[in-house]
Amino acid sequence: MVEKRRPISVSEALERVLGKASLIGSEKVDLEESYGRILAEPIVASSDVPPFNRSPYDGYAIRSADSAGASGDNRISFRVIDHIGAGEVSAKKLKANEAIRIMTGAQLPEGADAVVMFEQTVESEHGITIRKPFKALENVSLQGEDVQKGEVVIDRGSLINPGTIALLATFGYSQVAVAKQPVVGILSTGTELLGVDDELVPGKIRNSNGPMIVAQLKRMGFRCKMYGMSIDQLDESYQVVKKAADETDCLITTGGVSVGDFDFLPAIYERLGAEVLFNKVAMRPGSVTTVAVANGRYLFGLSGNPSACFTGFELFVRPALLKMMGAGKLYLPQTKAVLGEDFTKANPFTRFIRASYDGETVSPAGFNKSNAVSSIARGNALIVLPGGSRGFHRSDTVDVLLLGMEEGASKWRL
Ligand code: AMP
Ligand code: MG
Repeated sequence: MVEKRRPISVSEALERVLGKASLIGSEKVDLEESYGRILAEPIVASSDVPPFNRSPYDGYAIRSADSAGASGDNRISFRVIDHIGAGEVSAKKLKANEAIRIMTGAQLPEGADAVVMFEQTVESEHGITIRKPFKALENVSLQGEDVQKGEVVIDRGSLINPGTIALLATFGYSQVAVAKQPVVGILSTGTELLGVDDELVPGKIRNSNGPMIVAQLKRMGFRCKMYGMSIDQLDESYQVVKKAADETDCLITTGGVSVGDFDFLPAIYERLGAEVLFNKVAMRPGSVTTVAVANGRYLFGLSGNPSACFTGFELFVRPALLKMMGAGKLYLPQTKAVLGEDFTKANPFTRFIRASYDGETVSPAGFNKSNAVSSIARGNALIVLPGGSRGFHRSDTVDVLLLGMEEGASKWRL
């Protein structure tokens, strides 16, 4: 008899998954290797930024008091006594009506408290004249105006982006503590599966889920262990799953979690003594998505249907891996957009539709069935339509989850 599965909501399912995430620990990596990793310690400013008062322009450093009363009819003269570029420090100290020619980034000379831009000066025989008064600290980039020493600039759990790298370099971190990445394994199950190099033969299809998940992981900066493909045979699959589960923190299998005669994952979970967190989610595609835990390790049983497999990864695997690393932001970026076409077929389950989002409008990315492959490739987002009895119409505002944000847009509105 086929067991009756009780669907739970996506949020309930996610809560159960995240509730099982254990922190994986941290390691030190070289700064150049840290892009895309999760910070395991906060970044604390080891110095002020900027570390000294400096000139934000090419021009002349002056004492502002000397400029008092300057006007077009009363130009004030300065004698230029030195010339410094960024990285140089003048040995001179400014006295009355003296100026130092200074370039952007150079430390303000002693006595100086303002900078006159080149454009605001006229050169004279021994120096320059100016036609307006300057206030104290005018055109000065102040020590510590950006960051003050001791400040926590970025919290632990943040993704290291190029800007974070700039900060780390600024503060002299040649190495940085980052969260270790969980060891993730991928196993594709199905007697029908062929490798990418195999010729198509009747009844068989090439394994597209395995390579797709490798790429989904890569997009998160992860590598993975490949366990290849296994046929739908209980003992054989059990052996592979057992070995893979022992060697990884998180094993992703595709296929074999449904109630078909050759879907052996449920039996395998039982043999492993795994705790099944759920085996039915009120979502389309991917309602058969199953997540289990054995010896504190995740077993993600994704549907073999490519669109369902893809969605299951983004909805459950991604946040779980991020949580294991102590990341602060677990979820795909979310926005709202206007639906570009009608979607009238009502469904009691929440729908996640592969879609293409252009910044304003979002439209389904083609053939919309759980076994679709083409729409995954064409989409850059998932439309989220809540379950219920109603359909949705063009111009309705809907929720959108954004995928793979490293890809650009086809046009700009500037
Ligand atoms: P299953 O989840 O095993 O019931 O498989 C559901 C559908 O997905 C079937 O049509 C399978 O042939 C197909 N499928 C299963 N695994 C893969 C895979 N790795 N790549 C592409 N399609 C797959
Ligand atoms: Mg199968």
